[in-house]
Amino acid sequence: MKFFISADMEGISGVATNQQLKTPSEYQRFRKLMTADVNAAIEGAFNGGATEIVVADGHGNMSNIIIEELDKRARLVSGNNRVMCQLEGLDETFDGILFVGHHGREGGSDVAVISHSLAGICVNELKINGHVVGETEMNTYVAGSFGVPPVFISGDDAYVREVQETLPQVEAAVTKRAVDRFAAELLHPEVAQEIIREKAETAVKNAANQKPVVLEGPITFEIQFKGSQQAKMTTTIPSVELIGPKSIRFTCDDMITAYKHMWGCVIIAITATNGVLGSVNA
Ligand SMILES: [Zn+2]
Repeated sequence: MKFFISADMEGISGVATNQQLKTPSEYQRFRKLMTADVNAAIEGAFNGGATEIVVADGHGNMSNIIIEELDKRARLVSGNNRVMCQLEGLDETFDGILFVGHHGREGGSDVAVISHSLAGICVNELKINGHVVGETEMNTYVAGSFGVPPVFISGDDAYVREVQETLPQVEAAVTKRAVDRFAAELLHPEVAQEIIREKAETAVKNAANQKPVVLEGPITFEIQFKGSQQAKMTTTIPSVELIGPKSIRFTCDDMITAYKHMWGCVIIAITATNGVLGSVNA
């Protein structure tokens, strides 16, 4: 059985503030913790019957996991020039997807640790077919298009509650109690990793009973950005319609195409934050 792990950083054991992920010396500590949480999920998955695992590093520059410390049985998608964003490498050959170290959506819980939606610098809200989504739900629909069911999540308790509103069937490992967007009551990482290991094992053992979550097309995305300059520049793509000063809409025939389109708009919006050519030295 083959499993895909989408790994993020905000929900990793020990993470409580943004500074920990940005200050260079602190960041090096949390890269190790991220790798250890992913290793716990890998070990649990193999204990549950997995025979092959691909991990996609999906936080920030998407090269956080320390490859030389990763469980040797897994392969790692690392680096950031990816058309499929956090899901690069996923296809119809997988039997389930695990979300390790993920986080609540922007504007969801008032306490979810470092809550945001894909890119905190520019995205205020993501809607799919009129329904507000976080990253885990959105990625689950993409996985559903490949016939791959969601089986496991790990992160803070507010994130877990948010995901379980729409995906109550997933196994969840709670790595900390959310106190504020920048505060948490932490478990020792080894304790949290034991929970991740056990829940990932259970998730993989039950994967055959889980169903992919499929959204039939057409798929309409609405994205509210943080700045009007970000929204406006995405209208350089002909399919994008401006529906408010900071909000856009577009429709695609299927979820995978819509996901790539969404990611393209977010890349443009990030680039437009301070003017699209403001930082180019060409
Ligand atoms: Zn992240």
